[in-house]
Amino acid sequence: MRAFVYEPLPGRVCFAPGGAADRLAAEVAALGLRRIMVIAGGAETGLADDVVRGIVGLVAARFDEVRPHVPADVADAARRLAAESSVDGLVTIGGGSTTGTGKIVALTTGLPLICVPTTYAGSEVTPVWGITTAGRKETGRDPRVLPRSVVYDADLTAGLPRSITVASALNAMAHCVEAYWAPGANPVTSLAATEGIRVLAVGLRGPGAVDRERLLYGSYLAGAAFAVAGSALHHTICHVLGGAFDLPHAETHAVLLPSVLTFNAEAAPAAEAQIAGALAAPAAVPALAALYRDIGAPRGLRSLGLTHEQLDRAVDLVAERLPIANPRPVGRQDIAEILESAY
Ligand code: NAD
Repeated sequence: MRAFVYEPLPGRVCFAPGGAADRLAAEVAALGLRRIMVIAGGAETGLADDVVRGIVGLVAARFDEVRPHVPADVADAARRLAAESSVDGLVTIGGGSTTGTGKIVALTTGLPLICVPTTYAGSEVTPVWGITTAGRKETGRDPRVLPRSVVYDADLTAGLPRSITVASALNAMAHCVEAYWAPGANPVTSLAATEGIRVLAVGLRGPGAVDRERLLYGSYLAGAAFAVAGSALHHTICHVLGGAFDLPHAETHAVLLPSVLTFNAEAAPAAEAQIAGALAAPAAVPALAALYRDIGAPRGLRSLGLTHEQLDRAVDLVAERLPIANPRPVGRQDIAEILESAY
């Protein structure tokens, strides 16, 4: 046994299949909240109307201007509404963009946050916040943004289109893969990552339709592993691309993952073996490729709308972040090759 430090993060995690509304009401009561701001927009608005039915009398404000990557003007508007409405707690119902909006309000106000996720982003169990100002995404870690409670209900993901389901679950798988070698990795995060990959792969393959219960549980394991392990090369590349070129978050992760795994596999043999085992195959890289083929995963940064000129700029922007934590030393040329292969 090698020496290691594992600092688990606080927070309640509730799995409530088919019961999000009741569980949310119970969590709100347990925290003693009386004036809540509900954050939910876009496709999640209808879901939110149903999930808050047990707390309607406590909703003092609703914020629905959610946008990807939390632009600074959205953060300002959400913080203003929370202050004007004198709320004492925040509830988010939605994907990672919604969770991120709640976190950015919690960051400056210290308000307790309850999250009800509707995708597999995993942000709801991490202390990581993000905000985008003039095309540059800034992120940080702060215990104030860690939700006090998370309510998982797979029924809320039933309406996710197949393309978002696949990309979002692969976003979760990328959390797992990077959790083996990010700076805070330890045997406990690797355990969660391995089970996360196994459950996500089984959930994605079906039979028939995806298994949403498994995907949601896998996304929780992925977020929990990533929250403690931290981020390395893969997340650095994705967050630079997302902030600078407004690429869709989950799809960017999905597209990058095979290239980053291929780059690192030989340099991280223990992780490679665990990933292969989780995918029930002899080697990780071909096993991931087979999964991508089987489920029709998105491939190619070009297909996400990135131009070749932007690709060159992306190499510069990622290289500005060097040195970057990674099991294999990484330089500018490596970044160029990884991005070219993902293109
Ligand atoms: P998203 O929240 O933008 O959702 C993607 C799309 O799916 C949106 O159009 C949304 O309206 C729709 N949608 C969500 N739930 C739905 C449902 N149940 N049915 C139908 N449509 C639904 O994207 P995401 O991938 O969930 O989150 C991405 C954001 O989360 C990024 O900003 C990323 O940086 C952040 N994130 C942060 C962390 C962290 O630890 N801080 C971790 C992961 C992701």
